[in-house]
Amino acid sequence: MNPSQIIALKRDGCRLTARQIHAFIHGYTQGSIADYQMAAWAMAVYLRGMDTAETAALTEAMLDSGMRFVWPVGSATCVDKHSTGGVGDKVSLVLVPLLACCQLSVPMISGRGLGPTGGTLDKLESIVGFRTDLTANEIQAQTQELGCVISGASHEIAPADRKLYALRDVTATVGSVPLITASIMSKKLAASLDALVLDVKCGNGTFMETPAAARELACSLVDTGRRMGVPTMALLTDMNQPLGRMVGNAVEVDEAVEALQGGGPDDLRELVLALGTELLLLAGSETDRESARTRLLNQLQGGHARERFAQMVAAQGGDLETPRPIAPATEIRVAQDGWVTGMNTRALSEAVISVGGGRRVMTDVIDPSVGLELLVRIGDRVEQGQGLARLFAHPGSQSESARSQIIEAIQIGVQKPDVPGLIIDRYEA
Ligand code: URA
Repeated sequence: MNPSQIIALKRDGCRLTARQIHAFIHGYTQGSIADYQMAAWAMAVYLRGMDTAETAALTEAMLDSGMRFVWPVGSATCVDKHSTGGVGDKVSLVLVPLLACCQLSVPMISGRGLGPTGGTLDKLESIVGFRTDLTANEIQAQTQELGCVISGASHEIAPADRKLYALRDVTATVGSVPLITASIMSKKLAASLDALVLDVKCGNGTFMETPAAARELACSLVDTGRRMGVPTMALLTDMNQPLGRMVGNAVEVDEAVEALQGGGPDDLRELVLALGTELLLLAGSETDRESARTRLLNQLQGGHARERFAQMVAAQGGDLETPRPIAPATEIRVAQDGWVTGMNTRALSEAVISVGGGRRVMTDVIDPSVGLELLVRIGDRVEQGQGLARLFAHPGSQSESARSQIIEAIQIGVQKPDVPGLIIDRYEA
């Protein structure tokens, strides 16, 4: 069957076979299928969808476009976590070394900021010297030696995804559940994992704003992981306010370091412990929740997770102990008494991006020193003149309009609101 026949089948709403999907992805990676053909096919998938068998076949085809890690016999159990992206989400910085302290291997392939959501690699690059461009060999060697790595996807991993993602970005086909699933899972499963936990965010600071959309993505990711033989589960978690107090890059690393030694904000610690508990259970390292949680807490409170993070940073060329510059702070105060009833999380992130903390286009250079500290959370009682937030920005940048954006984004009302729970649901196949 030629490429245009495969495109026509999907356009007409037919199921594609695994062979057809493999042939199409292989042709695209090799260059015999052109960008315009792939764009038409991606739009057909966007409009017609894919069932779980097709989504798994697409994941496998993208995975097969590159290399898979091979772990020597007797290696530690290999696990990973993926978040669909949120504002203030610095969980990976804490969870990866923490799991390594529990004798698990975590070769995390991570990404950069996308739209309003921050990127783990961008945050780590606020550490002087930190390398996020390790080769596949370096990722494997460091995982074997230290138990943990956080790096970008090297060119050897799922090259079909790299090519297709760039095309989806400019053809309005990013928001397709099967395409997102195959993109995420092909990169994750290239690490030959024994278990995977997904943190699927839901709310006004992420791509999946409604619980229904987040649930659809969670089910698709979990089903695909299972079909491909990797124990996989997902937590659906709230993103209607930033995670933790800090939003930015250097400020988020500093907050993660606090959490790594048992401190930091409660919601960040709770999410780290929840995801870590799921992974310890899924990997078979623990058999009950209570002992998994206690084990993780001990590693945080004993300073072991912080120590492992510092070792990981050093192994990747960075220096954790050199203080990271933070831009001058100005406080934003509450105009009237009331309750914090909600937050426009996306607008908060956009305020940080406007002062240089994120990218509007891929070529923008990030200023790691800028950011935002939230001094309130949804459900807090506030009084006129009380501090709402602190903006870290350089004078002369867009800081005045960012301040107005932040004031508008934090809603103050007269009625005590319902406080959203952090963990909304869990999915296991
Ligand atoms: N993250 C990815 O890696 N791929 C997508 O398609 C969306 C988010």
